[in-house]
This record gives sequence, C-alpha cells and structure tokens, in this order.
Amino acid sequence: MIYILEILFERLNAYQVMWLFVFFDLPVGTKKEIKEALSSGKLAKINFCSTDKSGIKCAEIVEKELYGDVRGTLANKNEKPTGNCVICNKPATKVVYIGRSY
Ligand SMILES: [Zn+2]
Repeated sequence: MIYILEILFERLNAYQVMWLFVFFDLPVGTKKEIKEALSSGKLAKINFCSTDKSGIKCAEIVEKELYGDVRGTLANKNEKPTGNCVICNKPATKVVYIGRSY
C-alpha cells in the first residue's frame, strides 16, 4: 500500500498532492507548512484552538503572520482535531481551513 502511494505521489504535481492531503485527512502541522500551502494557492487544514472568542488571537496571527484567512470548518463534516492548535499550542477543539487572504 505504501509503495503504491509512493508511485502515485511521484506522478502527481504539488497541487494534486495538496488535495490528496485534504482527502486523506492530514492536517498541516506547522506555521511554515501553512505558509507553503497558501503561497501555492492551496487551502491549509489545521487544528485550531477555538472558532469563538478565545481563538480570535490565533486568527489574527494567521492573518498578520501568515497572510491567511480562517475560512472555517467543513459544515457537512464534523471533523475532530487530533492535536493542539498550530498557532498557540493549546488543545484544539476545531479543524479549520485556512485560505490565502487577498
Ligand atoms: Zn490557538
């Protein structure tokens, strides 16, 4: 299975790989990876502490440092975060998608 995936990845361009990551449910783990995803025009999926008031600081960091926009959660998919908030490292309660801000 892993071998097949390796072959697949070799044949895909970065854009397709990014969508594979979305489909395979792998969140991005670092600010650097968020930046990389955004700079190539992709959505970055991250663990995020909160989408209410207590997460505003993190949303601001995303905007100011990463030039991204918190686009929110996938409405039809109740995704459970698997780690800590990528920005503040507190336990995450949401999985959100970050898009490039214009
Ligand atoms: Zn946070």
